Amino acid sequence: MTGAKRSTRGTTIRFAACVLFAACVLAVSGCVGGFTGGATESTSDSTREAQREVCVANERNIDMASQAYYTDQQSFAPDLEALAQSGMLADVPKCPGGGTYTLDVSNGEVTCSVHGRY
Ligand SMILES: [Zn+2]
Repeated sequence: MTGAKRSTRGTTIRFAACVLFAACVLAVSGCVGGFTGGATESTSDSTREAQREVCVANERNIDMASQAYYTDQQSFAPDLEALAQSGMLADVPKCPGGGTYTLDVSNGEVTCSVHGRY
C-alpha cells in the first residue's frame, strides 16, 4: 500500500522534472537562436519590409496627387516638386530605403528606384 503510493509519487516527480527539462531546453535554444544569425537576419528583413510598406504608401499618395493634378491642369506634373508646389502633395515624400521617386509624365505614375512600383 505505502510502497505503491511512493512509486506513484516518484513517477509524477520524474514526469514533472522531464517537462521542466524540456521547457529549459526550449528556452535555451530559443535564446541561442535569438542571439545568433537568426536575430540579425530577421531584423533587417523586417526593417526592409517596413521600409517597403512606407514606400508603397508614399507612392499611393503621390499617385493620388498626380491624378488630382491632372484633373486640375489637364496634364501630368513633371516632377514631385511641381506636385508639392501645386498643393496637391503636402510635401515631397522620401523613400525610407533611399530610393528616388520618378514621375512618368505620360501617365502620371510614380516609380521608386529601389522598390519599383507597388
Ligand atoms: Zn522606395
